Amino acid sequence: MAKGFTLETYPWAYTARFTEDKTWEEEYIENPHKSPAEEEKMSPDEFSALLQKRNSFPQLPLVNYTTQYGMGCFEGLKAFPQKDGSLKMFRPDENGARMNKSMSGLLMPAFPEDLFLDAVRKVVRKNMECGFKPVYDPEWEKDNYISGHSVYLRPFTYSEPAIGLGVSQFPWVVIVATPVGTYFAPGNSKALVTDKSRATPNGTGWIKCNANYVIPIIAKKQAALAGYMEAVFLDSIEQKYVEEGSSCNIFFKLKDGTLITPQLGDTILPGINRKSVIELAGDMGVKVEERKVPITEVMEKADECFVTGTAAGVSYIESLTWNGKTAVFSGGNQGELTTELQKALKMIQYGAAEDTKGWMFSI
Ligand SMILES: *Cc1c(COP(=O)(O)O)cnc(C)c1O
Repeated sequence: MAKGFTLETYPWAYTARFTEDKTWEEEYIENPHKSPAEEEKMSPDEFSALLQKRNSFPQLPLVNYTTQYGMGCFEGLKAFPQKDGSLKMFRPDENGARMNKSMSGLLMPAFPEDLFLDAVRKVVRKNMECGFKPVYDPEWEKDNYISGHSVYLRPFTYSEPAIGLGVSQFPWVVIVATPVGTYFAPGNSKALVTDKSRATPNGTGWIKCNANYVIPIIAKKQAALAGYMEAVFLDSIEQKYVEEGSSCNIFFKLKDGTLITPQLGDTILPGINRKSVIELAGDMGVKVEERKVPITEVMEKADECFVTGTAAGVSYIESLTWNGKTAVFSGGNQGELTTELQKALKMIQYGAAEDTKGWMFSI
């Protein structure tokens, strides 16, 4: 069973390679596995030896633009177990479109969106057919699916063999699936404003590329060593405006009821959960503003804060520390609007609320 967000890849994976004749050569790969029941009974050592095999792709080249220079991009999306035993994916069309944009941004041939949709669907289906899928548990209803499990899909690009500087002309697109429980460990949801810069104007902050993750991972680790769960980035020029969490978009509810989030631009990643939450909040009659978010304003006027992303869902931030000062939101507890939005989103995802927006895609 999934514990947090760890790599226990399911057996079936997908690869597509762009070839000289400008088509994508697709392959579904069945990596070594037993039945889920037999795997449950294996010793930790045996299971980790099996996973080792499952997590490696010997056909992919070791030395290439992706492993050497970070020239690659990726996506993250989830399939959620529904009460009727099926699985449904949340807005995979949006992920396909963003992957396409990211690949173009890195000057590689873009992966067609229809192939993306078909591939994520089939990877989930093939794993499901050999028993690898989360099983719907009515217990999850009690905490509005906060304890719910899902399948995490990770599509990513991988370049052809190369050592000189260059862009990938014949990339692979790989899709793997792994089970996932809740992402953030409960207990600590304190955030620290970092003085590092995640993204700079005219850079790559607007696409989901590997290289963007280097600085956030360092900042998050440093924040963790100082006792915080999350690092929050300000703009790189003035260090005045809030931009993002380490790999999540960020929202603040002001005391006057307005929900604010940084406006999109080339230093903000256009999150699909961000977009969905903005729409759900609007439906609830909340005034939402996408604009510049001064750190001084939220330190003083915000009474709720949360981050959004596929791995995190909607996760509250209990406090924000900046310049030696700490703002505590909702007395350190999860705020009401945060809870409402988290619940609304999860209910749609697990099929407990009607999907009136066409966000859920069947497998
Ligand atoms: C992936 C990502 C997000 C969240 O995007 P979702 O589509 O909601 O998962 C936010 N910020 C950064 C930097 C990201 O890479």
